[in-house]
Amino acid sequence: MKNLTILLFLISVGLHAQSKKIDKLINNIEPKVIEWRRDFHQHPELSNREFKTAEKIAKHLKSLGLEVQTNVAHTGVVGILKGGKPGAVVALRADIDALPVTERTPVPFASKVKSTYNGIETGVMHACGHDSHIAILMGTAEVLAKIKNEIKGTVKFIFQPAEEGAPKGERGGAELMVEEGVLKNPDVDVIFGLHISAITNVGTITYKPAGIMAAAQSFTIKVKGKQAHGSRPWEGIDPIVVSAQIINGLQTIISRDTELTKEAAVITVGLIRGGVRSNIIPEEVEMIGTIRTLDYDMQKKLNKEIKRRVPAIAEAFGAKATIEIDKGYPITYNDVNLVNTMLPSLQKVAGENNVKLINAVTGAEDFSFYQKEIPGFYFFLGGKPVNVSLEDTASHHTPDFFIDESGFKLGVEAFVNLTLDYLNTKKN
Ligand SMILES: [Zn+2]
Ligand SMILES: [Zn+2]
Repeated sequence: MKNLTILLFLISVGLHAQSKKIDKLINNIEPKVIEWRRDFHQHPELSNREFKTAEKIAKHLKSLGLEVQTNVAHTGVVGILKGGKPGAVVALRADIDALPVTERTPVPFASKVKSTYNGIETGVMHACGHDSHIAILMGTAEVLAKIKNEIKGTVKFIFQPAEEGAPKGERGGAELMVEEGVLKNPDVDVIFGLHISAITNVGTITYKPAGIMAAAQSFTIKVKGKQAHGSRPWEGIDPIVVSAQIINGLQTIISRDTELTKEAAVITVGLIRGGVRSNIIPEEVEMIGTIRTLDYDMQKKLNKEIKRRVPAIAEAFGAKATIEIDKGYPITYNDVNLVNTMLPSLQKVAGENNVKLINAVTGAEDFSFYQKEIPGFYFFLGGKPVNVSLEDTASHHTPDFFIDESGFKLGVEAFVNLTLDYLNTKKN
């Protein structure tokens, strides 16, 4: 009994020393993370054009002794860290692209970069905070590389291009990375990802089990009527009036046929085009829009109902309507078991009261493509200065978007602890 007590004491001293060592490594990395982030911020690159960004990432990962793959899904970089002991495989993901936004913040490292996007001259800015993601993951890689011998398993660092969407006519992002085998060889067991949030206080982590961000599908509706003089509608079939009925019909699917207490769902018609002048009833109207869902059964039902109802409404008026719905982005779906198992790791680093359950976000995120293949956990990391009110906070994708760098350390701590805790508890 006495021996057992001594053994347990020694193990706890050992664990304590280990966690002290990791704390020290994380404290030391913080200034570097901030420095890297400022450099990426000052030199942003658009989706699928992250050439210099990728070069810097690859150079850093190589300097840590990692096995490095470049040009994955165009400009993606993957680093593989093999721990000293056998075990599972964890992937950590950062997206690396910037946006066609002209920066207006007063920071000394503000971007002055210009480029063209869809043929239009524009400023380029890390207006979604992906610069923070790159720096946090580079810092995480450095910390974990330094304790490599004690790691039970393998860590894959995924630096992914084009999260905001590839340019017209190109493919890219998480979907292409998955296709190119980023989750294979070695096969990844689980994946973690975070997004810095300009509307969440520094020091806070927010999360939601199951659907945290929506599936986004685009649709196109074409309504064909019969052209007539605007003064004699009875001689034609007015596709504009039919379109109005279709729009109402779509909204009624949401309000009458969707179980909104389960999860949110949205249909938005964002464009309607038809007609040339006041006294002509046109032959055709085109509408495009978006469908947002957070539950796969609800998505299936919505899709089926839209496809059934749109042509049926048109037919009731003697018109014809076709509808096409694309595959879109999947639901950013947090594996419920994984969330329950790993939540204590986040509570440990942020403090229990600083890890908060949130409502789902109806925006979409291509991290969802990894989660379609393997269990994943995606959460938000606070980047809003605590003393600034929400009304004075610029949202993501805008010229005044601002991130408080003191939030980065918690990001590194979260990634390091999620990784080690998962690998230490996982039995192979
Ligand atoms: Zn974004
Ligand atoms: Zn983003």
